Amino acid sequence: MAYFSNITTRQRYLELPDTFYSHVHPTPLRGDIRLVHVNKELAHDMGLSAAAPEEWADIGAGRALPEGMTPVAMKYTGHQFGMYNPDLGDGRGLLLWETEGPDGRVRDWHLKGAGQTPYSRFGDGRAVLRSTIREYLCGEAMHYLGIPSTRSLFLVSSTEPVRRETIETAAALVRVADTHIRFGHFEYAAHHLGPDAVKTLADHTIHHHFPDLEALPDNERYPAFFVEVIRRTARTIARWQGVGFCHGVMNSDNMSIIGDTFDYGPYAFLDDFDARYICNHTDQGGRYAYNRQPEIGFINCQFLAHALTSLINEDELRRCMREYETTYNEAFVSLMRQKLGLAQADNNDLSLVMDTFSMLHEHSIDYTRFFRGLSTLPSRGPAPVRDLFTDRQVADEWLDRYQNRLSSENRSPEDREADMRQTNPKYILRNYLAQKVIKAAQAGDDQPLADLLEVLKRPFDEQPEFEDYAALPPDWGKHMDISCSS
Ligand code: AMP
Ligand code: MG
Ligand code: MG
Repeated sequence: MAYFSNITTRQRYLELPDTFYSHVHPTPLRGDIRLVHVNKELAHDMGLSAAAPEEWADIGAGRALPEGMTPVAMKYTGHQFGMYNPDLGDGRGLLLWETEGPDGRVRDWHLKGAGQTPYSRFGDGRAVLRSTIREYLCGEAMHYLGIPSTRSLFLVSSTEPVRRETIETAAALVRVADTHIRFGHFEYAAHHLGPDAVKTLADHTIHHHFPDLEALPDNERYPAFFVEVIRRTARTIARWQGVGFCHGVMNSDNMSIIGDTFDYGPYAFLDDFDARYICNHTDQGGRYAYNRQPEIGFINCQFLAHALTSLINEDELRRCMREYETTYNEAFVSLMRQKLGLAQADNNDLSLVMDTFSMLHEHSIDYTRFFRGLSTLPSRGPAPVRDLFTDRQVADEWLDRYQNRLSSENRSPEDREADMRQTNPKYILRNYLAQKVIKAAQAGDDQPLADLLEVLKRPFDEQPEFEDYAALPPDWGKHMDISCSS
């Protein structure tokens, strides 16, 4: 079979010294294989629309290695829950190749669940259907919310048994991104290879992923690169806070160097607003709780700073680090202003935002519904907001303050509503929705996954035929204990 015959392929990652990877072939999945989903839109954007189902299935199952594919496991290290771990790397994923789309954009293909590698430690190298569906869904959900993220190209499932808390079945997912280089790659270079390797990695990353910085002189190029990474990280995390997304495992090996949301495990979108929400049930100390994410992003940038000390002097690093708070605060306040429909800035806006969060927290108000309800105040009146509160007086007092703030705006309510509807999603990937499609897929029915993916493509639109997907979670679906085993 001529796999993806017309595609231009590359492998920029192999330009790095071979200390950054190991050549590993996928271990074919055993049992029967089923192609669970192909992301046709993304495939089209990548120039892959002509591929046949068998091509996807063969590659996903590790049963075919098309010409041009040179799979490697990437080596990286990183800080997990604050502790340095030198033994990380792609333990079950392989960088297959990079393909160039009709628009010239080059993307990595990363096959997750491809079998053991030299970096597997005690792991079996596999991924289960449950966790690959979760990753597949969230990459797409984030993309359509406008939040930088890796994406999912296709997913195959096999009947090969895999042991987690129970026996599950193996699956494999091809994830694509402009790059899979992480903060942890730099930590590995700095702690294990030395200054030359850090420079080589930084030059490689700048050349391919931050080309605008390449022409700067040495003493400006590396700080400019670091500042750009800091800014992207801070902006992405501000977007998470705005939409109520909890990542759950913000280890520095899960931080993308280009600021993508990266590595979906026990993530959650908030249902009832809970500032201290911990979505990862193994995170007992709450290190990665919702309200700690901005600070953890900063700490991860500090880990990156340590890894860059051979390129950037310490004063300069400290100066760069100041960008984090500035960028985060600016991005967060302006996003929250937009969510509240405020077109003009007012000095008291931050305290309005903070008081709003306190109120949502204290009264356990559904975060998404609240902001969607605010968006439709002009056309639907206060009921969608008030109905979320057991204590209507709390809602009314808050709404009075809000109306008062709105009266200083000179934008028409209609224009405000139109803008707010494009900012405050109606449809988010609640954990219970993911859980339902996982159950169905585990029983062999992949249609619910396809349906949910369609709904998540238009999170800001009213989709009257899919009203159910915007419902509050049923009791069983609230605060679900999501295992981080995957
Ligand atoms: P994560 O928590 O997903 O960021 O993974 C942390 C590290 O564990 C990475 O180096 C993974 O490649 C590795 N890992 C996770 N699950 C497995 C598995 N089933 N087999 C081998 N390595 C794994
Ligand atoms: Mg990871
Ligand atoms: Mg993971």
